[in-house]
Amino acid sequence: MTANRIPLSRLERGTPFEHRHIGPDTEAQAKMLAQVGYGSLDELTDAAVPEVIKSAGALDLPEARSERDVLAELRSLADRNQVLASMIGLGYHGTFTPPVILRNVMENPAWYTAYTPYQPEISQGRLEALLNFQTVVADLTGLPTSGASLLDEGTAAAEAMSLARRVGKVKNGVFLIDADCLPQTIAVIETRAEPTGVEVVVADLSEGIPAEIAERGVFGVLLQYPGASGQVRDLRPVIEQAHELGAIVTVAADLLALTLLTPPGELGADIAVGNSQRFGVPMGFGGPHAGYMAVRDKFARSLPGRLVGVSVDADGNKAYRLALQTREQHIRREKATSNICTAQVLLAVMAGMYAVYHGPDGLAAIARRTHRYATLLAEGLRAGGVEIVHGSYFDTLTARVPGRAAEVVAAAREAGVNLRLVDADQVGIACDETTGRAELAAVWGAFGVEADVAALDTTAQDTLPEALLRTDEYLTHPVFHQHRSETAMLRYLRKLSDRDYALDRGMIPLGSCTMKLNATTEMEPVTWSEFGALHPFAPVEQAEGYLTLINELEERLAEVTGYDKVSIQPNAGSQGELAGLLAVRAYHRANGDEQRTICLIPSSAHGTNAASAVMAGMKVVVVKTADDGEVDIEDLHAKIEQHRDQLAVLMITYPSTHGVFEEHVADVCATVHDAGGQVYVDGANLNALLGLAKPGKFGGDVSHLNLHKTFCIPHGGGGPGVGPVGVRAHLAPYLPNHPLQPTAGPETGVGPISAAPWGSAGILPISWTYVRLMGAEGLRRATQVAVLGANYIAKRLEPHYPVLYTGPNGLVAHECIVDLRPLTKATGVTVDDVAKRLIDYGFHAPTMSFPVAGTLMIEPTESEDLAEIDRFCEAMIAIRGEIERVGSGEWAQGDNPLSNAPHTAAALAGEWERPYTRETAVFPAGVSAADKYWPPVRRIDGAFGDRNLVCSCPPLEDYDG
Ligand SMILES: *Cc1c(COP(=O)(O)O)cnc(C)c1O
Repeated sequence: MTANRIPLSRLERGTPFEHRHIGPDTEAQAKMLAQVGYGSLDELTDAAVPEVIKSAGALDLPEARSERDVLAELRSLADRNQVLASMIGLGYHGTFTPPVILRNVMENPAWYTAYTPYQPEISQGRLEALLNFQTVVADLTGLPTSGASLLDEGTAAAEAMSLARRVGKVKNGVFLIDADCLPQTIAVIETRAEPTGVEVVVADLSEGIPAEIAERGVFGVLLQYPGASGQVRDLRPVIEQAHELGAIVTVAADLLALTLLTPPGELGADIAVGNSQRFGVPMGFGGPHAGYMAVRDKFARSLPGRLVGVSVDADGNKAYRLALQTREQHIRREKATSNICTAQVLLAVMAGMYAVYHGPDGLAAIARRTHRYATLLAEGLRAGGVEIVHGSYFDTLTARVPGRAAEVVAAAREAGVNLRLVDADQVGIACDETTGRAELAAVWGAFGVEADVAALDTTAQDTLPEALLRTDEYLTHPVFHQHRSETAMLRYLRKLSDRDYALDRGMIPLGSCTMKLNATTEMEPVTWSEFGALHPFAPVEQAEGYLTLINELEERLAEVTGYDKVSIQPNAGSQGELAGLLAVRAYHRANGDEQRTICLIPSSAHGTNAASAVMAGMKVVVVKTADDGEVDIEDLHAKIEQHRDQLAVLMITYPSTHGVFEEHVADVCATVHDAGGQVYVDGANLNALLGLAKPGKFGGDVSHLNLHKTFCIPHGGGGPGVGPVGVRAHLAPYLPNHPLQPTAGPETGVGPISAAPWGSAGILPISWTYVRLMGAEGLRRATQVAVLGANYIAKRLEPHYPVLYTGPNGLVAHECIVDLRPLTKATGVTVDDVAKRLIDYGFHAPTMSFPVAGTLMIEPTESEDLAEIDRFCEAMIAIRGEIERVGSGEWAQGDNPLSNAPHTAAALAGEWERPYTRETAVFPAGVSAADKYWPPVRRIDGAFGDRNLVCSCPPLEDYDG
């Protein structure tokens, strides 16, 4: 009988989540291990991971729990957050996410599991959605060229400062900020200005630029429209004055207000920046949301971040792709215009779709209603004897109640509304799309005023200044007029997502990008209002659940990386790099080592590294890569010697960007420390280490992680992301902090890296949930299977393509590079051809030409099962056979399935004069006719679009939508 007894405790556990997250089951793992030549996962990783870096003992993490239990735990955390009506303002506003967008974009894996559209042929849907976003921003700001999103408003304003410095005529002088700008924006700019030697002056510019500042020279001016105080004023005089001084003028503008107000472009601004959060994106306690930047034509080529443009495909049909890639950090490195890589694509898609759904009239109606509530609120307060500071405002009021401000704010809180405590005498009140009569009554009550909405409504006059009312038409493109019914909207969203290839279709084996499972349980809490509807500056007592979750996540990340302290504030890997390097800089300066400004970076490093170092005020010295792909030790020693007294930091990626565990990493770290330098370990490849080794223990002083790689935050088509920075204790005093939330970082910190205190807090539940579901054992096993997958692919492909680099025992880490260069030389077939041909086989290409030109870097992750991995290997092997046929002359070099790839359905219609059959074109070996992914366009000509730059929705006659 006992043989039939399964203990209840085991039955209760159910299927461990680990088995849902990790693709290959035990049997598949055994097959893969056999191919690689090892008996067990432990044997494999014992052989692959160098002894010196291995961490002893298991991770100290709470035991794994089931999805059901973890959801219940999340629920109880959510219940400890209090959602009050938010009237705090300061750039974050209540908004109503249209459910059709919530469910079909934000909660839809077809959108959120997509990668950055570097392979434009399989990304036409999200590229069109981003083009809509760019059109919204360009139209509303009155500036012709908008990027496809930046990280938030504060960093967008800081990027504008760098742009102004780069392109402006005034080469010295100060960056001048109007005192009525958002306080967090001012702080983010100050953090970034200091290391690059820019002096920031904050002054009241309402009466113009004071003469004593003008005399010092001004290269850039930042104004807020409407101001943080709510005031709407005509910026033309100060813009004119700034232009006379030769300054570049940036206006940080509220997109909803711009539906009614004269756009910044028309007022004379050169650059507009801001945030699109209130276009249907939940506040999420600070993010993620899409920041924006739009510029005059002449600055289009200097715009930071990604830009979507219109081009043509091989048949001359309209097609979208990322434009002007040559500006980007991955090419320009330390000369890049910005370090931004991952941005906020998913949120930009949402904001653009909000505009598509409402159209210009709907948006203006929301703006008018918001303004009307503000007006009635103000009139009610005035009638009750409260002074309203500004006569003209859009949605935000500043009320003067001498000595009583704290009391009023407390009373409002009692009534369920958060207001902004400006100072002892002033209260800020912001209306938004979700404001209603109940909030008005609560606010009046808090001020001790009685008022009647209906009565006020018959007399109160709107207060937007006549001279600033918008008169031009905007969003005239049909896309903003055709999707007003939910049916039309639903189908538009479906149509676009159907054009794209995301993880919900198949494997995306992108080296360095770790495209793993984003489990539904991890995603669920993100759209719960208890996480979504909190304002980042809400009183911390209302965010107990969030703060518990954030503390636990920071502690667990510290445990797995071996660091003493982690800050989750940076909202992308690039921002984590900047935060980490600023900590290093502050540390050296605190020790009196101001001269330590050299940052050594291997030539194989990710482009963000060099760009971030420059932003942190450092000078980049490149270290060579040896033939075996490892850091050239001799060159490293020479460079350390040469710069010994100026050495600030060595920035290495581990495992290296070549996907190899370098054996001498501990020595390298020791040498740098001996010279007085710090070691920055870029932790984007942590998926090869988690549970096996800890960068904080094998020599790193500081690392950033990418939660959107290793910790399951989906890539969203190019963002959101979270790039926490982990440091050893001596750097902890220099982590980011925040002026509006003292609990968000150390008092001695370097200032805010992101606009919000906890960065993109709204998506932190994803990573918290992942760690909670997996536990120490699960995380370790995930790493082992990721390493197994990469080695399995390397072994299977080796006879067909040379694997470029290997580490100990001929093994790779979690990714492998296959070298196409010899084949290209012999046959003319390029990496590009192989990448595009993979589309015909139903795959997203691996990472192309990074870190080595002419190669493909493949990272399967632990989430891909053996069947999918085999399907990929077989496609690669079949493609090798096709290359052979080009090489042998059977197929002509310029006319073969590779050079013509990808093949669309339309390409099959009509005459067929190719030297290969239609079947070969679209149904090569292993492709099921029933399940075929059809790319919507043929190969895209990027250069054409760069010569003829079009970055907003193309005119109707081009529109086959
Ligand atoms: C992805 C990556 C980064 C940059 O991260 P973002 O979040 O895109 O800014 C930096 N270094 C390496 C090695 C990476 O793979």
